[in-house]
Amino acid sequence: MLNCDRVLCLRFSGNKTSTVVTESLTPDLPSVLNETFTEYDFPQEYYQRYCQGYPRIIPDITQDILVPCLVNYLQTLGVKSKLIVPILKDNNLWGLLIVHQCSHQRNWQQSEVNIILSLASQVSIAIQQSQLYHKLEEANHELHRLAMVDGLTQVANRRYFDTYLLTEWKRLAREKLPLSLILCDVDFFKRYNDNYGHLQGDECLKKVAGILAKLAKRPADLVARYGGEEFALILPNTDQYGAITVAEFIQEELAQVRMIHPNSPHHYVTLSQGITTCIPLPNTNFDLLIKKADDALYKAKAKGRNQAIFYQTEFITN
Ligand code: GH3
Ligand code: MG
Ligand code: MG
Repeated sequence: MLNCDRVLCLRFSGNKTSTVVTESLTPDLPSVLNETFTEYDFPQEYYQRYCQGYPRIIPDITQDILVPCLVNYLQTLGVKSKLIVPILKDNNLWGLLIVHQCSHQRNWQQSEVNIILSLASQVSIAIQQSQLYHKLEEANHELHRLAMVDGLTQVANRRYFDTYLLTEWKRLAREKLPLSLILCDVDFFKRYNDNYGHLQGDECLKKVAGILAKLAKRPADLVARYGGEEFALILPNTDQYGAITVAEFIQEELAQVRMIHPNSPHHYVTLSQGITTCIPLPNTNFDLLIKKADDALYKAKAKGRNQAIFYQTEFITN
């Protein structure tokens, strides 16, 4: 529109250094994209004027005697005239919109200056909108995470457990591959709370969740808080031997970590675990899988706790 040779946006960062973040130029002219400048390239008095919204109009850069080293630099870029307008955001100097004329010296007209000034204010609005959009995206991302994660233990919550199990159930039914589920429950946890108080009980649940998350280490494995002191592990593409191995690792790790539990016959915090495996059948739901894991967990409790019991999930077909 204005037949300029180079237009660029310079963005200031906190320490008054600035970087060329975008540029448009006539072919064959040297690019200045990503060039950075220090605060010494912008004498304080210029900086102040920019902050107040004033442009600088330089028809002949050799007359711009205040910054001789910048003049030399601009001459290597072929610049003969320049026009600089500030980009303000929230009354702060965000950056500069800079127009270069290289082909000839140019006596900038007031109407041209006005065009560039209004362009800068539109850029400022666009930046503000883009930043708001970014914040909204981040907030949405965090909201999405919070909807899936248990606030105390930071493993998946029950809602996400249901969603994930359904997805994996359908996928493994199509692929005819095994799916294992472990339900585990902290033994004598009421006594632990009674002894140490609820806050330390919470800390214990966090540690248990951390151990489970560490041991369920395949990318498709999922650890979820199933209820108060109950956790669930979804182990896709894992047969009964794999699942039993994971359960054994969990028992061993708890024995190693040895979180003292004075009111348990085992003397440290233990888990009872119910394990089950099946190859999901198409057009069925996973209720039977959960029921089997729950039955196995009940059995582990009945047999004295601190152990894992495996039950196969069998489908009854007519
Ligand atoms: P069992 O060995 O049969 O599993 O006995 P238990 O005491 O672990 O089982 P019970 O169901 O009797 O008690 C579960 C306890 O878990 C009671 C409840 O206060 C505690 N609990 C559940 N959710 C939380 C929680 O978020 N934080 C804390 N600190 N305790 C919890
Ligand atoms: Mg329980
Ligand atoms: Mg319990």
